[in-house]
Amino acid sequence: MSDTERKIIIAVDGYSSCGKSTFAKAIAARLGYIFIDTGAMYRAVTLHALERGAIRSGIVYEEEVVALLDRIAITFRFNPERGASDIYVDGDLAEGKIRTLEVSNCVSRVSAIPEVRAKLVAMQQEMGRRKGVVMDGRDIGTAVFPDAELKLFMTADPAVRARRRYDELTAKGERVSLGEIERNVRERDAADTSRAVSPLRQAPDAVVLDNSRMTVDEQMAWFMELFASRMER
Ligand code: C5P
Repeated sequence: MSDTERKIIIAVDGYSSCGKSTFAKAIAARLGYIFIDTGAMYRAVTLHALERGAIRSGIVYEEEVVALLDRIAITFRFNPERGASDIYVDGDLAEGKIRTLEVSNCVSRVSAIPEVRAKLVAMQQEMGRRKGVVMDGRDIGTAVFPDAELKLFMTADPAVRARRRYDELTAKGERVSLGEIERNVRERDAADTSRAVSPLRQAPDAVVLDNSRMTVDEQMAWFMELFASRMER
């Protein structure tokens, strides 16, 4: 197979609100790959648990969340306007509803439940079976695709990340304070790095990208050089 035909798996892991999804989506568009936002899948399960009452007054009832897993249908449908796939839960569009601060505040506790991870990781492995995917998350290079040909680990200054997430939510009309966003970003980092099952870790063969002071264009130029050198191997 020639280099232009050869497709690989690109794993993009890192901390919350580093711009992983924006960057992974841009890479996928550039390479003609499929972009898969695995955070959206954990958010979708969290939204479903909130709507079905398995999370009440901020308390996640693990057994009740697990009981919902057998019946939840998570699907993606490509949305040409966004240039990415929208996520659906039981056939209902969930894209906007999964990005609220309420979901963000509960998602790390839901994603720490082993049964939730087992189900979503199996789905992600199936989606990447034919390669040609850019998958972003926390455990893609360590647990979902430990053999991914190219792994990035993204990071940025927590204050820069909180500011970006704040701008994103306020632009959508959500009334939030920068302080509560910063707290959420730090709490998710702490929960994601300390959970027992596949915690957020930099894979030994991942390349670090600190984008605190980089534009998306600069990140893309940096990435394309790395990609070209990997494809020469
Ligand atoms: O990427 P995003 O911030 O939308 O992810 C939301 C949450 O989903 C993370 O804070 C993390 O708890 C969980 N997650 C995960 N593993 C992934 C992707 C996301 O545990 N591969």
